[in-house]
Amino acid sequence: MLLKRLELQGFKSFADKTSLDLDGRVISIVGPNGSGKSNVTDALRWILGERDAKNLRSSRAEDLIFAGTQTKPRAGLAQATLYFDNSTGFFPVDFNEVSVSRRVSRDGATQIFLNKSEIRLKDIIDFFAKSRLGARGLTTVNQGESDIFIRSLPIERRMMIEEILGLKEFRLKKAEAERKLKNSELNLEKAAALIEEIKPHLNFLRRQVTRYNNRENILESLRDLENKFYGSQIGTLNAELQRLAEEAQSVEKEISVKKKEELAAEEELNRVKSSEPEAAESLKKIRDEKNKLLSRRGDLQRDLGKIEAKLELSGRKTGVDAGRLLSVFGEIKELIKESLNETDLSKIKTILSKVAGLLGQAEGGSGEEDADIGLEKEKLLSEIKNLEKEIEDFGFEEDKLNVGIRGFNEEFSRAFTLFEEKKREIEAFTQRLNRLLLDKEKTSFRLEEIKRELSESGRDPRTISASNGDIPENEKEAVKRQIMRFRQELASIGDVDQGTLKEAEETESRHGFLVTQIDDLDKSIIDLKALIKELDGKIHDNFVSAFKSISEEFDKFIKIMFDGGNGKLILEKREVVPQENEAAPTPEVAGVEIEINLPKKRIKNLEVLSGGEKSLVSIAALFALVSVSPPPFLVLDEIDATLDERNARRLGQMVKRFATKTQFIIVTHNRAVMEVADMLYGVTMTPDGTSRILSLKLSPNDEVPETLGEDVHEAPRP
Ligand code: ATP
Repeated sequence: MLLKRLELQGFKSFADKTSLDLDGRVISIVGPNGSGKSNVTDALRWILGERDAKNLRSSRAEDLIFAGTQTKPRAGLAQATLYFDNSTGFFPVDFNEVSVSRRVSRDGATQIFLNKSEIRLKDIIDFFAKSRLGARGLTTVNQGESDIFIRSLPIERRMMIEEILGLKEFRLKKAEAERKLKNSELNLEKAAALIEEIKPHLNFLRRQVTRYNNRENILESLRDLENKFYGSQIGTLNAELQRLAEEAQSVEKEISVKKKEELAAEEELNRVKSSEPEAAESLKKIRDEKNKLLSRRGDLQRDLGKIEAKLELSGRKTGVDAGRLLSVFGEIKELIKESLNETDLSKIKTILSKVAGLLGQAEGGSGEEDADIGLEKEKLLSEIKNLEKEIEDFGFEEDKLNVGIRGFNEEFSRAFTLFEEKKREIEAFTQRLNRLLLDKEKTSFRLEEIKRELSESGRDPRTISASNGDIPENEKEAVKRQIMRFRQELASIGDVDQGTLKEAEETESRHGFLVTQIDDLDKSIIDLKALIKELDGKIHDNFVSAFKSISEEFDKFIKIMFDGGNGKLILEKREVVPQENEAAPTPEVAGVEIEINLPKKRIKNLEVLSGGEKSLVSIAALFALVSVSPPPFLVLDEIDATLDERNARRLGQMVKRFATKTQFIIVTHNRAVMEVADMLYGVTMTPDGTSRILSLKLSPNDEVPETLGEDVHEAPRP
């Protein structure tokens, strides 16, 4: 016997703590109408996991709590505990006794305890389902539901059968798997949508990151090229500067040497200059004297002119051969003319002596006038004599001076030429030095330019080490172009935005997470589909294999209940049998249809059956099920209500027959049914409006106590 004891407190009409010992194969609960019998079966159903208040004959959870009466205050909570004997290991837990307790408080909060540990409602439903128990179906048949099997829809019938066959566990698992599948599919859809949503932005961020990475590569190549190129440039320019400095230094040395030489030449020149005594001065004087002589000569010319005029005049008066005089004076005139062009003193002297001779020839033919002319002639001759003397002196002096000056001039010219040469040389060297300095300046400027260019492009010129020959001269231009290209590329990429990088990293990891999630979901969807298929297969196989026997048993029980006829349970033609390795859709579940033929009746439609007949068919189905798969217990609440005495007795006999395998809790008013019970509980309503239990253990041969029997007997339900 599985059920051991039921304890109620504050549950519906059971205000006080009430205990029902269920230690029997058939336990009958009897009592007057409204005494609280069905409240006991409600408690059992509630403990077995019923969720729907309606099935507990209430509208909300609070209705389960004792509401109070005029004399008895209401309870704060309702509690019902069912004790199971687990010594046979019926439940897969390590307890000899299993207790399941359910409790509800007025705020609607429900608690469930399995051996005092709180568990969820869902878990207790699973727990019972694993052991083929449940609140629905045929394990507990409520009052007024004796015809439940007939009334139900084909699919509901199937579920009842499945529950009693213990397939509910698979159904629950399948429902759970389907719920998970739906969730997974939903989440998959969401994740896919999210991926789609972030994809464009992620692509943009990825491109940015690629650009930034590319930027690093370009930057590295650029640095490398810059190092080589500028290193080479700086090296070349430094070498050039060095060369120019060295050359300038040597030119400067040259200049200083030349300057010394120039100084020496200048000194020499000065010395030569200072060695020029009075020679030039003396020559000047001589020349002055010469000028004077020339001036004197002019005077002589004038004087001779006068003499010429006088002679011409005296000739006409005296008859002197005028022609002769004219020719003499003509000669004198020519000589004087000649002397005017002459600078050589000795020649002038010669000319003058010729003139004196001619003048003597002209003397002969004059009288008094001639005597004057003679005086003048004397004077002129004397002067000429003096002139000759002076000229002679000058001649000596000039000769002497000319010899001295020629030597000086030669020396001066040599010294002067040397001095000038030194000056020219210095000039040439200075020009060369200036050119060198200019070149140096230009080179320095170019070096500065390069450094400035480097600084502008973000490089510290100090980090570039000068080298030489890293890049061949003929490649420099191409390298420079490449550097410019790299710089342009970098400029177009722009600076690295740390924010973008961070965002890219976050978005990437989010994307990665979603991809993994999609993978996981895909896998779990495959697994869940496989599980669902497997469960469908199990349900189908178990069901189909039991169903035939159930149908045969049903036929037997119909025959018993109706003294003939036949019955058949038929599966609706819609079930798709799941195939191995086939991604078949979830097979549709075929419901169970009932086909009966009763003696002397044509049954086209189950609706035409009477209430009692419907109950009998349902009872036949219930026992067919029980015979194929006996449940550990059945709770039947007045399923005999519509049965006549004969059929109630038949029910009693069937209960007795199956009680060896199944424990029965039966609420009944029927004496025939009470008689098969080995434990009888009487429920009464006390004056304070609460239910009370009276127990009476019966031995198999005991009669049902008269009082109770009468009591019950009076109240068969219509
Ligand atoms: P019958 O033989 O007519 O079917 P019964 O013995 O099965 O009767 P129940 O339906 O079990 O009777 O009990 C109904 C009684 O329980 C009613 O009198 C009802 O007032 C009482 N009852 C139900 N819920 C509560 C509650 N929350 N508080 C107090 N009493 C309640």
